[in-house]
Amino acid sequence: MYDEPLAIRRERYQAGLLIRVATCLIFVAVFGVIATLVPQQARHSFIAPSIALILLALINYPFWVLGEAKQFPLQHFYAHWVIDLVMLTTILHALGGIDLPCGFGGYLIMIVTSAVFLSRVASIIVATGSTIAFDTLVFCEHVGIVSHQVGVWDHHYSVPAQVVIVLASNVFFYLFAFLVGALSNALKAVSGELAEARDRLDEQNHTLEDQVRTRTLALEQKTTEIEEFVQIVTHDLKNESVGIVELSRRLEEVDAARLSERGRRYAAHLRTDTRRLNEMLTQLLALFKVDDTTGKMHRVDVHKLASGLVEVNSRRLSEKGITVLVRELPVIQVDELQFQHVLSNLLDNAIKYCGDKPRATIEIRWIEEGSRHRIEVEDNGIGVAQRQQQRIFQLYHRGTDQLVNGVTQSGAGMGLAISKRIVERWGGEIGVKSRIGVGSIFFFTVPGVRSQGTDEHG
Ligand code: ADP
Repeated sequence: MYDEPLAIRRERYQAGLLIRVATCLIFVAVFGVIATLVPQQARHSFIAPSIALILLALINYPFWVLGEAKQFPLQHFYAHWVIDLVMLTTILHALGGIDLPCGFGGYLIMIVTSAVFLSRVASIIVATGSTIAFDTLVFCEHVGIVSHQVGVWDHHYSVPAQVVIVLASNVFFYLFAFLVGALSNALKAVSGELAEARDRLDEQNHTLEDQVRTRTLALEQKTTEIEEFVQIVTHDLKNESVGIVELSRRLEEVDAARLSERGRRYAAHLRTDTRRLNEMLTQLLALFKVDDTTGKMHRVDVHKLASGLVEVNSRRLSEKGITVLVRELPVIQVDELQFQHVLSNLLDNAIKYCGDKPRATIEIRWIEEGSRHRIEVEDNGIGVAQRQQQRIFQLYHRGTDQLVNGVTQSGAGMGLAISKRIVERWGGEIGVKSRIGVGSIFFFTVPGVRSQGTDEHG
């Protein structure tokens, strides 16, 4: 049998008491109404029953306190019912006993509530109690053990009518007890099964969560192992590729005279391809490095950082005749290495794809956008065609136009894809606004706010 939790017991116990109080008060009101309908001399008969009902309602308060103290024992309802039976029978007697129309209905209310709040057995016990109480009252009034209250009603049932009322009420008592009791038992069984099923489901959910947690951990461990392995291999491959670039350079430059035209072409291709491979491996290693720092927040002076990057690139900038303006930039809380990676990548691209104009310019600036920073790198370089603007953020995707001042720009098509991954990981956004032949504005956002500083480099 399902053991009801305390909360449910409390709910049912208190609901039982409230229903009792409500029923008593409703009957007081009903008596009030009836008293206005009966003849003047019969009215006083309703005063005592109404007081009895109010007392019956008040009795529920000690039961409420008792219930709280004893963890809502539902068997205390039997004590209620004994009191109710006695009171109800006394009230019936005061109101004319057998002559009160449908007087036995009061017992039916008790039988139904006992079925709902306890069980079928309880309602049969209450039905038996009701039968005994009602029949005894009618018998005692009939033989004169207690005096019959006359004058409340202007009728008095004959003995055969009294027998029919008593028999019919007894049948009703048991019928209600069986039917409502069975129904309520079935309902309780179903709700018990439901509660058990819910408990089983909760248990299964916990087991499942545990399994998922264990497997996620195992998976994370495996992923870390694989990443470490790839990192080592990438590193070794990069070292090898440096060697091959150097060998192909020597082949091309030192032994060029001994090579055929085709051999020289092959050596040149070898060098370009290996350089590309080297660039890809460099980017991959940078990504691993950036991944390692995830979650380490620093206070970063973006102006200082940007100026430093400009300084590092000063030779390239003066060779290409590019002026860089570093506008007012903020001090922010961010993963410094990741932030530097993104900004240096955008600056590197701007330098790469700028310089075909007489006054080549790059501008690094900051816009405060509500609760986030927006950093922009603008150049007046070759620009990106509209249809390419989304795709350049995909891995290995390079723009169709790579010519700047007649020189094809080398690259692996990984920089923007890695930057996108970094920015999105900290909850930011990265994008570009560009017009072919006019220039581009690459931007990215970082959550948080604060500002300072302006500088100019040329
Ligand atoms: P890479 O520069 O190595 O090709 P990226 O992922 O950094 O790889 O850039 C992808 C492509 O986006 C580049 O090949 C280029 O076509 C385009 N691009 C990036 N930055 C600019 C820029 N400032 N101006 C014009 N095109 C750009």
